[in-house]
Amino acid sequence: MPKIFMKTPLVEMDGDEMTRILWAKIKEKLLLPYIDLKTEYFDLGLSQRDKTEDEITVEAAEATKRLGVAVKCATITPNAQRVEEYGLHKMWKSPNGTIRRILDGTVFREPILAKGILPYLPAWKQPIVLARHAYGDVYSAVDLTAKKGERAYLVLEDEAGNVRKKELVHAFEEEGVVQGMHNLLPSVASFAHACFRYALERGLPVLFAAKDTISKQYDGAFKQVFNEVAKEYLPALEERGLWYLYTLIDDAVARIVRSEGGILWACKNYDGDVMSDMVATAYGSLGMMKSVLVSPDGKYEYEAAHGTVTRHYYKYLKGEETSTNSVATIFAWTGALKKRGEIDGTEELVAFSERLERATLSAIEAGEMTGDLIPLFHREGVCPKKLSTDDFLSAIEQRL
Ligand code: NAP
Ligand code: MG
Repeated sequence: MPKIFMKTPLVEMDGDEMTRILWAKIKEKLLLPYIDLKTEYFDLGLSQRDKTEDEITVEAAEATKRLGVAVKCATITPNAQRVEEYGLHKMWKSPNGTIRRILDGTVFREPILAKGILPYLPAWKQPIVLARHAYGDVYSAVDLTAKKGERAYLVLEDEAGNVRKKELVHAFEEEGVVQGMHNLLPSVASFAHACFRYALERGLPVLFAAKDTISKQYDGAFKQVFNEVAKEYLPALEERGLWYLYTLIDDAVARIVRSEGGILWACKNYDGDVMSDMVATAYGSLGMMKSVLVSPDGKYEYEAAHGTVTRHYYKYLKGEETSTNSVATIFAWTGALKKRGEIDGTEELVAFSERLERATLSAIEAGEMTGDLIPLFHREGVCPKKLSTDDFLSAIEQRL
């Protein structure tokens, strides 16, 4: 069989620990035998980031802007313990954060559904795609502790330093805490654009929620900007039988729980942080959650939503058998290859990506899976078998 031709390369970002092991195995077993794989390779493994003073991460993001499609392996975000473990020069920032800043992108997280893997909420039959506005709010807030007798104000000054507005937050008669946070309306608008574009691409309705009854100015502005942007997309949504709804966050949660899924849920930063973990857990395993970063000008970076699976990596290093789920990492590759194929008009590449996805799901549906999925699997007449990391990849390879 001649190998499938790739017209344009995609950006390949290698990573750390167990997912780095998976990365090499996936390429060797499932991709290289079939595809004339063209990538611009960037090693985002922690040692390489340290050696290049994190320049490699910036280069990988710039390459993504140029080539339009990237696939990324999970990477360590260093903390104090990692600085010691790897003898780092500095506590480098999260590569995902750096890439997101450079691409000014929005992250969409989506579960991969297989027959037999039942969500904890049995009503959910379709994926819920969660979009998180990843700018501002409490994540770049200032907060202070206040002493008894102190007063906290919100003050707005003009450029010359004249006080334009001053509001008392609280006069503390007891010890307390106070916080100031902000957001930017163009950032909310570009988030809204990203959500509507992606929803149209995927054929999903859009739900956006805030708490404008309580936070009248702050969340009120979010609501207003989102509704304004929505007007641009409503005709296209309606034409496809889709809808857009703004509602209060508590009502949104109730609607999501009662829904069958098949919704794009646009969340404010904090709601997205909390709800993405809730949605991921409710669908089953982190090993089945994929993630794509989409920039406003249509650049795509695909990855698994989970981390580097450190606990499994330490077992692997000791020579013990592991059972690490490679599904989300495989789907990061198929997502990127499919997008590359769509952009370049290479149908064979699109078809191959879909075949690889089917082969992966059909292994699970036939009862061959990694340990994380065993307790979630319920399919009549199929007894699930726990496979090692390698055996699961072989089960897919056979079907492919
Ligand atoms: P994690 O790597 O997602 O793993 C947490 C736990 O979830 C694992 O110990 C495992 O549970 C389970 N799990 C996750 N993915 C799995 C898979 N593919 N197959 C089977 N089980 C899976 O999160 P973490 O341990 O908190 O973080 C590890 C490192 O990843 C950190 O250094 C963090 O900075 C980094 N991280 C990177 C990204 C990214 O690059 N996007 C995202 C998150 C975290 P059991 O141990 O119970 O089997
Ligand atoms: Mg979270």
